[in-house]
Amino acid sequence: LKAAMKTRVVILGATGSVGKSVASVIAEHRELFQVEAVVGGSDPVSLAAMACHLGAGFAAIADASQADALRCALVDVGYAIDSGAGSSAINEAVDRDCDLVVAAIAGVAGLRPTYRAIRRGRKIALANKETLVSAGAVFMREAAAQGVEILPLDSEHNALWQALAGAPGDDVESMVLTASGGPFLNWSAQAIAAAIPEQALKHPNYSMGAKISIDSATMMNKGLEVIEAHYLFGVDHTRLKVLVHPQQIVHGLVNFCDGSVVAGLAAPDMRIPAAHCLGVGCKADQRDESVRGSRLRTTLPRLDLATIGRLDFIHPDTGRFPALALALEALAEGGSMPTVLNAANEVAVSAFLRRHIGFNEIASLVRAACEAFAKAANMAPESIDHAMEIDSLSREWMHKRLTLADFEAT
Ligand code: NAD
Ligand code: MG
Repeated sequence: LKAAMKTRVVILGATGSVGKSVASVIAEHRELFQVEAVVGGSDPVSLAAMACHLGAGFAAIADASQADALRCALVDVGYAIDSGAGSSAINEAVDRDCDLVVAAIAGVAGLRPTYRAIRRGRKIALANKETLVSAGAVFMREAAAQGVEILPLDSEHNALWQALAGAPGDDVESMVLTASGGPFLNWSAQAIAAAIPEQALKHPNYSMGAKISIDSATMMNKGLEVIEAHYLFGVDHTRLKVLVHPQQIVHGLVNFCDGSVVAGLAAPDMRIPAAHCLGVGCKADQRDESVRGSRLRTTLPRLDLATIGRLDFIHPDTGRFPALALALEALAEGGSMPTVLNAANEVAVSAFLRRHIGFNEIASLVRAACEAFAKAANMAPESIDHAMEIDSLSREWMHKRLTLADFEAT
């Protein structure tokens, strides 16, 4: 394909776990995609390497103090493209002419850049679930206003989206998101209470960023994903269910009103939902022989069910994993509760990773934050600024609570 006909992509969070999955699919289909820009957080050497690998036109790093470091890193890999640092550089990346923006920044840090991409009318492949948890209504409203399609890149949502296959909402009785159960699925409550970061970071099936790995261990991740599904698919919280499925072969199931069930299956490999999003996100005029329908041809792992042999499903245990129940409560409560929950959780996860708090304190502190904001939380964020304001208040509350605890301990 001529350069002008390629699908132009901007990758937010290009150096992360999802970013790398997306990059590897793009690298297999260079004839279809042109990477306009890559954005990373604070690792200039990896970002420069990724920019070079993908032939990106521009690189931006969030950490404003790393402008020189990024420039030097690009020179070192022999790929001296334009680059920048800080939020203005991220905006510049988002503003590049492109057809698809991959939103794969971790946490609420992805909120403004992803929203900006929607405002620019870009199609979004969305992995960054925290954006929808924090400001889901604002996001979906703006996407609808701009006619922007949001392609779910999170594996469960991608499976649900494929299982839905455009069915009308009225036909859907309920949706099930599966969960691996995380590294502590079969641990006793006592053992979980004593868990340290190294143990919590060991996900059974995926290698992921630190934040989502801890969220998987607490099962907060599945709670965040239920909230994400609520906004993505417009399904009421009473119709969203969670099943623990340790093999992670079935990622999501749609129960239809006639008793039919359609499930999305795939090997547990993030490159598969990435390939699906990239295929659907491809410009229609590119669908030559390397693209079948809207799907890319890939050599990614195929599912061999006979080898897997059995698939297990069990109800989640919210006794040992209270974070899941907390997130579901926040969704049921509505208003700004999911925003408060998400921010409190980000602070708690980072405190756990720095060994300031124990594993169970993640959920207990998030619960305390939600309770503290219960009265004030009846209004859902009306704008991104409003969501960020609530996010900051929740973080401040958590920081105070954490320093207070330090103070009491000494
Ligand atoms: P990660 O920590 O591996 O990567 C995060 C990326 O964001 C990195 O490129 C990092 O440099 C960048 N980043 C961090 N802070 C930034 C900032 N302030 N501004 C710009 N960029 C910044 O995380 P991940 O595991 O790839 O997850 C990314 C998102 O995708 C999360 O929201 C996660 O919940 C979601 N997700 C991840 C997986 C997975 O398998 N890893 C699966 C589904 C959804
Ligand atoms: Mg997921």
